[in-house]
Amino acid sequence: MEYRRLGSTGLKVSALSYGAWVTFGRQVGRSAARELIACAYDNGINFFDNAETYNAGDAERLMGDVIADLRLPRDAYCVSSKVYFGASEHPRPTQRGLSRKHVFDACHQALDRLRVDYLDMYFCHRPDPDTPVEETVLAMDTLVRQGKVMYWGTSEWPAEAIEEAHRIARERHLVAPSMEQPQYNLLHRDRVEREYAPLYQRYGMGTTIWSPLASGLLTGKYNDGVPDDSRLGHPDYAWLREALLENDGARLKSVRALAPIATDLGMPMSRLALAWCLKNPNVSTVILGASKLAQLEENLKALDAVPSLDGEAMRRIAEALG
Ligand code: NDP
Repeated sequence: MEYRRLGSTGLKVSALSYGAWVTFGRQVGRSAARELIACAYDNGINFFDNAETYNAGDAERLMGDVIADLRLPRDAYCVSSKVYFGASEHPRPTQRGLSRKHVFDACHQALDRLRVDYLDMYFCHRPDPDTPVEETVLAMDTLVRQGKVMYWGTSEWPAEAIEEAHRIARERHLVAPSMEQPQYNLLHRDRVEREYAPLYQRYGMGTTIWSPLASGLLTGKYNDGVPDDSRLGHPDYAWLREALLENDGARLKSVRALAPIATDLGMPMSRLALAWCLKNPNVSTVILGASKLAQLEENLKALDAVPSLDGEAMRRIAEALG
């Protein structure tokens, strides 16, 4: 495993990490979750990603249960939570958003569900138009000073809102955000590569990137239809299926165009797609979302594939993506 600094912080995170979004508490039960976390940890993964909203808190409950059962040493792994969407299907007004109240309540609930005394990373899962950024920065600063959160960050915030948070933190001597959690993959690049470009140097922001395989699209498994036992085949994720397969299948066309490059490099599409994310030095960690052990074992091979993506391979990839 390779370890990278989380931006300019001193925290070293594994270049591949593991997240629980659709999987824990829905596709994956307790014994499979235990196998997946054990495999990840045994292979050097030290960051496990979660959020209050994932399966209405069940993903955090299951992860906390399994990590406690495996007796992973608390100082050897990092765990995150995210606040914004709430932890129930129909949250009341004070049970969602980034108000001081909900940021505090959600933190304490996540600590409880994950069975830990502190969160290594705590993300504002989206910007909240109803809460002044200053209120959220102050709440996060307090949680850090209380020792309940080590590093706080944002997820899918516009660059100017992140800059505003940094300005407020600098002026008021508060703890500034250390990392952002954006989507980044071969089919979704703009924000990480263009919009956030000034943030890495100027503020030392790290990135913990999500959906590196575009929910599995980049494995090629959806090229000939939607398998029943897949994420996009799940009835609760019809919205995701529509979002990813819209535009007359333009995304699938790109995936098909990339396939021969993977074949020539002697690797599956999934490995090529993950190695491509790892090649970006502004990516601190690539969060894997495998729902099966064999997928996770395969995805762990991506680090060894990075050197195969030389200039010629990168040129062919750029050409295939148009
Ligand atoms: P991916 O893009 O890697 O998608 C994961 C899905 O791809 C799996 O569930 C599986 O689908 C399929 N897959 C993975 N590996 C393979 C393989 N080798 N062969 C075939 N299929 C494979 O990641 P996620 O979208 O899950 O995102 C990763 C993590 O990022 C999440 O768990 C979460 O922690 C975080 N996240 C954060 C968000 C945010 O807003 N901050 C939003 C979304 C995710 P299947 O189950 O169909 O087999």
